[in-house]
Amino acid sequence: MALEELYREVILDHYRNPRNKGQLDTPDATAQGVNPLCGDEISIEIRYDGDVVSDVAVVGQGCSISQSSASMMTEAIKGKTKAEIEDLVDKFRTMMSLDESDDTGLDPERPGSVLGDLEALQGVRQYPVRIKCASLGWNTLMEALESS
Ligand code: ZN
Repeated sequence: MALEELYREVILDHYRNPRNKGQLDTPDATAQGVNPLCGDEISIEIRYDGDVVSDVAVVGQGCSISQSSASMMTEAIKGKTKAEIEDLVDKFRTMMSLDESDDTGLDPERPGSVLGDLEALQGVRQYPVRIKCASLGWNTLMEALESS
């Protein structure tokens, strides 16, 4: 299977079966984000155990890129500290940037080696308008982290 096709499958899987979808009973932090260009909406709720994000839930609607990116994000951040998540957000933003000279530490021979399913989103770079879709969940996540 071609890599691009594999990436498309990963994105569609997260879109059809969003992980950690829903709401938490007593969230420690929440944030809402919208991408008016596309009509995407994301609402994130987080629970902490000390400095670790012990639980996360997302409700949203919009295009497959925005929703699958948020779903992948929830899997990627659960069990991580704020500092680890900030590092992950940096890596994700670098991956999504158009600057090819950025060294993200990604190994093109081994998709999934660093960012897991998230690497499926790197194809979105070719469509600058969709980068906002892919980034929505992450920007909203940072808002939630900073508010708590
Ligand atoms: Zn979108």
